[in-house]
Amino acid sequence: MSKNLGLYLHIPFCRSKCPYCDFFSMRASQGDYDNYVEILKEKIKYWSSKTDKIVDTIYFGGGTPSVLKAEQISDLLYTVKNCFNCADDIEITMEANPKSAIEFDFKAANQAGLNRVSLGVQSSNQNELKTLGRTHSLTDVTEAVNNIKSSGIDNISLDLMLGIPEQTVDSLMNSMDFCVSLGVKHISTYILKIEKNTVFYKKREKYSFPDDDLTADLYLFAVDYLAQNGFKQYEISNFSKEGFESKHNLKYWNLEDYLGIGPAAHSYMDGERFFYDRSLEKFKSNEIIKDGKGGTVSEYIMLQLRLTQGLNLIKYKEAFGSLPDKDFFDKIKKYSKLGYVNYDNDRISFTEKGFLVSSNILADLI
Ligand code: SF4
Repeated sequence: MSKNLGLYLHIPFCRSKCPYCDFFSMRASQGDYDNYVEILKEKIKYWSSKTDKIVDTIYFGGGTPSVLKAEQISDLLYTVKNCFNCADDIEITMEANPKSAIEFDFKAANQAGLNRVSLGVQSSNQNELKTLGRTHSLTDVTEAVNNIKSSGIDNISLDLMLGIPEQTVDSLMNSMDFCVSLGVKHISTYILKIEKNTVFYKKREKYSFPDDDLTADLYLFAVDYLAQNGFKQYEISNFSKEGFESKHNLKYWNLEDYLGIGPAAHSYMDGERFFYDRSLEKFKSNEIIKDGKGGTVSEYIMLQLRLTQGLNLIKYKEAFGSLPDKDFFDKIKKYSKLGYVNYDNDRISFTEKGFLVSSNILADLI
């Protein structure tokens, strides 16, 4: 049970809907944004009365939090700081899209505590951006990064996507070159997953998605390229300069407590999992869905193995009283011989090649 808490605040608004997106987000008016901020403040107050944990990370995710005004982000931050005990070295991240980040007053938000920004770049190739329904240009991204840096925030993360229709290793290299040239501290590379209920799913025949072999090449290229440019991989999709790992996201993989406030936001607190439904109305009425106990053996193994540092068997034994059974270790030895897993006496982790097939291996292990 952790004494610290990560707070996730969901902002469910976007200017338009990207064809691959399955997140809970919608188009809305300024009036809707204003109302939502008031509801969120009420819920922050409500939750602060339920726990005395110390908030050491806050993450504004979405949606597109940067559609809100900086005063609204600041207002939310002051509410959190007034209601919860907050750590002095708190990490406060906001997701932003390049277009809205050009205009956003990061200086004001930084004064209220914002100290990290995650920008959705996805690609530097205009055709790929068009396919993804993203309307920003490279100039927009550069201007957005300059705007963030000039506010005093230098902890910037960029998101890139792998597996875009028609993407090649060369086009990915251009995207990586572009991101690295911006002098940021963190890069995330997510493999595009076609979710049901998205335009990409409905029109999947129309697109030429990279096959598994090309997707593997893209991933392995990204890992090598980022390593050569000083970005250390610390999770299957996340790379950072030394000391700039996302503290908030590490909580998810280290099974530390986090509280998600907003429609479709998930929480793990004091061993319990729960979430809000994908509905603004249900969020307003504070209807919470319980999702049972968290922190089980399988969950622990699965989440720890997402990290490059992998599963520490000494910590595992401390948490669960004994080591996994012989069958588990027989399988680990098999995958180690095949080059998918590193295994020494007290640590198990995936290799680069292992990360690519990690879901199949995990299904076999747990
Ligand atoms: S901007 Fe992000 S959250 Fe909004 S629709 Fe696009 S992918 Fe989804």
